[in-house]
Amino acid sequence: MDAALESWFAANGRDLPWRRTRDPYAVLVSEVMLQQTQVERVIPRYLRWLERWPTAATLASAAPGDVIREWQGLGYNRRALSLHRAAQAIAAHGWPEDLTELPGVGAYTAAAVRSFALGEPVLPVDTNVRRIQERTGHAFAPPAGQALMDLGATICLARVPRCDSCPLAAGCPSRGRRYEPLRKQSPFEGSFRQRRASTLRLVAAAPQRLEELDAEAVAALARDGLVRVEDDLVALPL
Ligand code: SF4
Repeated sequence: MDAALESWFAANGRDLPWRRTRDPYAVLVSEVMLQQTQVERVIPRYLRWLERWPTAATLASAAPGDVIREWQGLGYNRRALSLHRAAQAIAAHGWPEDLTELPGVGAYTAAAVRSFALGEPVLPVDTNVRRIQERTGHAFAPPAGQALMDLGATICLARVPRCDSCPLAAGCPSRGRRYEPLRKQSPFEGSFRQRRASTLRLVAAAPQRLEELDAEAVAALARDGLVRVEDDLVALPL
């Protein structure tokens, strides 16, 4: 199965900008952005981010407010602060042996950096990879990571997999199966997440008077360190 996957990937793999580098910082930026944002939205933002802050040291010395402002539109803004803190830790102490010691870096992100940047023999298992492992019952070798991600994103889809176009179909016991719709993500429209996001967008554009903002959203953003409240003015952190 690994060989079939490899030749499929050689012909069909996605050309993504973070696959053209082995710089662990650049790979970390891409992986943190990709945690909760779609590939197409991440590509231009990743390129812009690396142009602005090409190294962990340059990001480490940026003001948190600038980092939050640059993150606008990617969603789940706490990731921006975590990435900033991770860059500060790397700039001060170098890369830790255990990458999950870095803020915002869980087991998957750590494995992705170790595999894609450092070339270590670990298989990063995200939802796409796990789905293919479960459906095929095959233990893929570590270098298969990116190929599995692409297969999961384009062929072995969650609900209606395209088994007719799948390079693994010959040996796959799940070939031809359909799956129940996944539980839908609760709508963003009207959610507290949206209230937080639009409040932060206003504050990122310019400091705002507290009384003119959604107080609950401001309190939650302040708790996460994404805004500071001084007197009756709400602004990004310094
Ligand atoms: S044959 Fe179908 S279910 Fe099996 S890995 Fe390929 S796309 Fe997924």
